Amino acid sequence: MSYLTLKDINKIYPNGYHAVHNFNLTIEKGEFIVFVGPSGCGKSTTLRMIAGLEDISNGEFLINDKRANEMGPRERGVAMVFQSYALYPQMTVFDNIAFGLTLQGVDEEVIEEKVKKTAAILGLTDYLDRLPRALSGGQRQRVAIGRAIIRKVGIFLMDEPLSNLDAKQRVTMRSEIAQIHRQTGATTIYVTHDQTEAMTLADRIVVMKDGYVQQIGTPYELYYQPVNVFVAGFIGEPPMNFIRGHVKGGKMQFGNNTLDVAAKLGNRAKQYEGKEIVFGFRPESIELGSQPKSHVVKAEVELTEMLGDNTNVYITSRNEKAILKVDPHDTPEIDSTIVFSIPYDSVYLFDGETENVI
Ligand code: ADP
Repeated sequence: MSYLTLKDINKIYPNGYHAVHNFNLTIEKGEFIVFVGPSGCGKSTTLRMIAGLEDISNGEFLINDKRANEMGPRERGVAMVFQSYALYPQMTVFDNIAFGLTLQGVDEEVIEEKVKKTAAILGLTDYLDRLPRALSGGQRQRVAIGRAIIRKVGIFLMDEPLSNLDAKQRVTMRSEIAQIHRQTGATTIYVTHDQTEAMTLADRIVVMKDGYVQQIGTPYELYYQPVNVFVAGFIGEPPMNFIRGHVKGGKMQFGNNTLDVAAKLGNRAKQYEGKEIVFGFRPESIELGSQPKSHVVKAEVELTEMLGDNTNVYITSRNEKAILKVDPHDTPEIDSTIVFSIPYDSVYLFDGETENVI
């Protein structure tokens, strides 16, 4: 039995806009699920349907195998954290965290104990008497999270909770959220457009585009076994390089180079004879020089960016461009010609028409 089930969920807004198409997902108790995709792809809409803040137009949402479409947020047992912290400005940190329990008429002593415990988890013990305006952005977001986790609900929903923080605070809060999840074990659904957040936090990621689920999988699966060009390009930074071309005699010509398609596809290469394919490789999966069991590529260096732990090398071969990640000690000269190898295992081929992996 799954804890949460989304069966063919659709959202059609009153103005007729079809924002979510046939969303299917089962979630186990305690899982950390991340919805990721570009702005407008339907992540928040799906989250809000799970929260009970938005009607489900079509399909079924089950909690513990029981239909929950008609249940209100409280009955579903959800707590939600938004990107705007939505704290009460005139209340102290203590009162903000305690708010839900106070409303429920929970005993004062119990509230005090629970608030102290929650504050300890979140590193807010020394701030309980402060007003929100006397806190940093990260601390405010922690109060908002505290208010949600203190209620011990079954489902914890977060919509871009880190987007109002600066880059440094985001990284800190990200690891804190992972730690809170480990401590509370709460089933969590987290929405973000940031693939790094998705990769670092999730047990499983749901990649969405234009209202459609593209792929559901662990961070490892999405990185190493992307089902299509979109997922392959969305996960990873800098993104995967893509080069389009036609297969002729089992080979694909690009720039001044030849890709041996048959070496990768074997007999299946015949199916693609004369057709367009997309050749993909990740910037970090290359080795300099000519290596065995690899596609060897020759290209010119346009630009290099030394980033400390690695150097991004922008290369070109006639009209084709790509980015490579190399060890800073191997940074090539601008305008020089380099030779590098892509191991067969690290070559991805996609159908040029459907853009699905071959
Ligand atoms: P995301 O969270 O992925 O950025 P949303 O779920 O907020 O995307 O929105 C998905 C799509 O639905 C967008 O194109 C958005 O403009 C549209 N949308 C959101 N809310 C409404 C609404 N109340 N009425 C009509 N369209 C909406």
